Amino acid sequence: MNDKIFLSSPHMSDEGYEKDYVQQAFDTNWIAPLGENVNGFERELAAMVGSKDAAALSSGTAAIHLALKAAGVGEGDVVFCPTLTFSATANPIIYQNATPVFIDSDEKTWNMDPEALKEAFEKYPEVKAVIVVHLYGLSANMDQIMKICEEYDVAVIEDAAESLGTYYKGKHTGTFGDYGVFSFNGNKIITTSGGGMLISDDEERVAKARFWATQSRDQARHYEHSELGFNYRMSNVVAGVGRGQLKVLQDRVEKKRYIFNYYKKALEKFEDITFMPMNSWDEPNCWLTVMTLNGSVRPLDVITALENENIEARPIWKPMHLQPFFEQYPSIGGEVSEGLFNNGVCLPSDTKITDEDLERVVKTLKKVWLH
Ligand SMILES: *Cc1c(COP(=O)(O)O)cnc(C)c1O
Repeated sequence: MNDKIFLSSPHMSDEGYEKDYVQQAFDTNWIAPLGENVNGFERELAAMVGSKDAAALSSGTAAIHLALKAAGVGEGDVVFCPTLTFSATANPIIYQNATPVFIDSDEKTWNMDPEALKEAFEKYPEVKAVIVVHLYGLSANMDQIMKICEEYDVAVIEDAAESLGTYYKGKHTGTFGDYGVFSFNGNKIITTSGGGMLISDDEERVAKARFWATQSRDQARHYEHSELGFNYRMSNVVAGVGRGQLKVLQDRVEKKRYIFNYYKKALEKFEDITFMPMNSWDEPNCWLTVMTLNGSVRPLDVITALENENIEARPIWKPMHLQPFFEQYPSIGGEVSEGLFNNGVCLPSDTKITDEDLERVVKTLKKVWLH
């Protein structure tokens, strides 16, 4: 059997930057809690994306949860959320006992459709916050979305878990809204093995998020709590991995774009293949290369053929309004995201992939079409 080709797996630097930072944590015994790697990772990431402040947390999901809390979302509040996303975007809305209203995708970006968003505001003007996602590292249409959200004066949270390294009109995704969220889960463009970051220009709110994330310990000699707390902080060892990974982010982005261009060049002559949209405003990190199939070859045919060759591929995220757990909540539109789900395939986009591996993937795909 050939070696496995992964969808997207951890890729530590050749230089060993991550190990150096982790070693420092061991040498100083700052294994936990917190320490210089956590402070350094927050500072370095905030500077890279152009945000005033950042809080390193245990996951991207925790960061979304605290962003909602910081935005004042609580029991019974309405939160707009794209339907085409990973469930981690929507789950924290339920943690806060709020109600998600799912918004359809725009064909042009695959992300939140500004027209559907307008419709949602007309229907639910009392909405408390809007979560925007930059799926697969593609920017949402931020000019239009921000304009609508500003009209209604509502908090905007950007779930940029998949878009670290993606810029919209030269500005980093995650820095348009009131809060931005990144994830360092194992298959993201850079990883800490697990972790997340909450960013904002509002330093007071970020400080509050750090407070909640460390069990809401008030200033006192004994343990005093006047608010509900969470155990959501990132450890100093994990943050060391993150500082090292940040140094190679740009290399990873370049490789991801190379992979996208490789597939596109090799496969675009097949009439029924359409690649994910590239808009003029967008500098995407191409976290995953995704294509949709509009002919007789179905995503499952492709995924199975690749699987038989020990190559990992997967469908597009299944929309939230079609999920058994979430289907009870309202949704606006839904046909575009459903179409993307029915027709989409995520191709192996691992940054350790070689040209020989890419050729193996392409050859396997061509066999499906020429069959
Ligand atoms: C990965 C991901 C998350 C969650 O991040 P974790 O660090 O795994 O909690 C949230 N939203 C999207 C879109 C993601 O892809």
